[in-house]
Amino acid sequence: MEKRVLSGMQPSGPLHIGNLLGALENWIELQNDYRCFFFVADWHALSTNYEDTSRIKEFSRELVIDWLAAGIDPQRSTVFIQSHVPHHAVLYLLLSMIVPIPWLERNPTYKEKQEQLGERDLTTYGFLGYPVLQAADILLYKPDFVPVGKDQLPHLELTREVARRFNSLYGPVFPEPKEHLTQFPKVPGTDGRKMSKSYGNTINLSDSEPVVRQKLKTMVTDPARVKRTDRGNPDICPVYDFHKIFSSTEVQQRVNRECRTAEIGCIDCKKLVADAMVQRLTPIWEKRAVLAAQPHLVDTIVRDGANRASAVSGPTLEEAKAAMKL
Ligand code: SF4
Repeated sequence: MEKRVLSGMQPSGPLHIGNLLGALENWIELQNDYRCFFFVADWHALSTNYEDTSRIKEFSRELVIDWLAAGIDPQRSTVFIQSHVPHHAVLYLLLSMIVPIPWLERNPTYKEKQEQLGERDLTTYGFLGYPVLQAADILLYKPDFVPVGKDQLPHLELTREVARRFNSLYGPVFPEPKEHLTQFPKVPGTDGRKMSKSYGNTINLSDSEPVVRQKLKTMVTDPARVKRTDRGNPDICPVYDFHKIFSSTEVQQRVNRECRTAEIGCIDCKKLVADAMVQRLTPIWEKRAVLAAQPHLVDTIVRDGANRASAVSGPTLEEAKAAMKL
């Protein structure tokens, strides 16, 4: 039997190039070796955004467009929206009966996010229980692997604990998924900090070429290089981090050399990186435009994806219910 991989993303805003270079390019690779299930976790978005749900639908559609434009192939991978497959909600309910509350309270993200999003009231049942929904999302597809970064390992461990508890109470239904560790490259935001929606420093896949060029123009550089004649240090310049990702070796070597001698100015250096980034993003933009102009195509893809996902999640749910004698 072919090996399965499952992963999801929350529709919490436009996808940025940090997401592209981290998770998404990894997903695109995984399609070559595994049967992949990729889902938009719209119910998870509710756990932190329940007060303003106005854009979840729009963000979900945009997310699918970004995935497809970047290279997720809906023929090979099952692409769906979580809320279109109600089995997730049913298994979430069943699992919630057996998960001890202290398991959820000790989840490191629970406290961290409450602190980070201090202006929102996250003392809700849904927010505390989101790892149970996550366990249901994963276990329904009995995946062999779940792609995770190192910081998400505790979440996957919790899913495994839930599977073990279920299996020991009712019989072996859920295999324990293994991690597929993903290396995330260092992607700086335009302010030099890590690129993140919450810092407002992102370059998005949906940005147009002029917007990308403008964002790069105002990007921070080596702070010690104030005047054109000052020598710079590419090792501490976030623009150079982008060169390492997007530019040819030749351009990287040139910038590395000429920045240190002040032969090249930051404006020209940024233009070089903008050209390289635009070149890389242009095929994605072109595909995005085609998809955005055909809403019915995206609707068909996610409807077909939900059917294919249900064909796997339905039998698993029935197995779980039977094991529970329901
Ligand atoms: S020349 Fe380029 S690498 Fe050097 S400080 Fe300016 S932007 Fe950074």
